[in-house]
Amino acid sequence: PNRIFSGIQPSGGLTLGNYLGALRRFAQKQDEGIESIYCIVDMHAITVWQDPAKLRHATRELTAAYIASGIDPEKSVLFNQSQVSAHAELGWIFNCVARLGWMNRMTQFKDKTAGKNAEASSLGLYAYPALMAADILAYKATHVPVGDDQKQHVELTRDIAAKFNHDFGVNFFPMPEPVIEGAATRVMSLRDGTKKMSKSDPSDASRINLTDDADTIAKKLRKAVTDPEPLPETAEGLASRAEARNLVNIYAALTNSSVEAVLGEFAGQGFGTFKPKLAELAVSVLSPISTEMTRLMQDTGEIDRILSRGAERAEAIARPILDDVYDIIGMVRRK
Ligand code: ATP
Ligand code: MG
Repeated sequence: PNRIFSGIQPSGGLTLGNYLGALRRFAQKQDEGIESIYCIVDMHAITVWQDPAKLRHATRELTAAYIASGIDPEKSVLFNQSQVSAHAELGWIFNCVARLGWMNRMTQFKDKTAGKNAEASSLGLYAYPALMAADILAYKATHVPVGDDQKQHVELTRDIAAKFNHDFGVNFFPMPEPVIEGAATRVMSLRDGTKKMSKSDPSDASRINLTDDADTIAKKLRKAVTDPEPLPETAEGLASRAEARNLVNIYAALTNSSVEAVLGEFAGQGFGTFKPKLAELAVSVLSPISTEMTRLMQDTGEIDRILSRGAERAEAIARPILDDVYDIIGMVRRK
């Protein structure tokens, strides 16, 4: 039986990348009837400094974004990580399964410490992939829908599962598969076509936020870095034009079509024509979501109740799995 797990960090406002690469696809999976567990990974967020009041707000706002994007908290399990201690418990065990050499190969740690003193980053930021493996395997999830940037971490999760099974001579954890599909598996920064769009990028101009209004979206796209060439006839014509390719990809993802179809419509036209069309399209997709988020955020008591209920349901799945893990590794349990 298939079971999906995925998570998003409450580390800031959500971006168009999070929507196209994660939220929208999570809702599709739920609607296909696959058992789905979606988490607000607040324990991952604190691997870098989070102001407590902002963290609390971002957790509730992310819950609202999940629901506004189509996650039904009755159909899917929707909760925040710190309410289910199985994540922290299994995370520690996986810290003892994963090898330092494996962690040293993780590119996200390198990206997140680039230009900074890595020695001054938290131990949690380094160990993050082991906690992510615990998030997934605490539910024995089989499929993990993520953006392209998380592929390496899901592969590490498989390595951890395999080593655990091998070391203890059991066939206990499944090998979860990353599910990376669609036109927008890696939405790039509007300021630099070689960098991923991220909610924690210090430059707000680098991203479109779910909560940006129509004028802000139009302005950010108008200022987005592009080249002076018109759009080409074929996808190959975008090969060495990272920024142009990114905007065409976004257009294709927002219309559920392909890069070829978008070029079929816009080939020969310049960005002066294309950018306002893209802005109009982005606003038409995002504004109903941000309106619904605003409405949901008026009742944070209800949001907190949804999270508590989700945590109870998550706990009911994870606890028996954790009990088995403790038995397998030889921990004497309370009678
Ligand atoms: P942070 O900068 O704090 O790491 P983030 O924007 O990378 O934030 P995450 O919470 O780390 O967001 O990731 C949540 C999900 O969104 C993951 O599945 C991730 O792969 C996906 N995602 C993040 N950025 C993009 C992007 N630019 N394009 C497509 N998917 C993305
Ligand atoms: Mg990230």
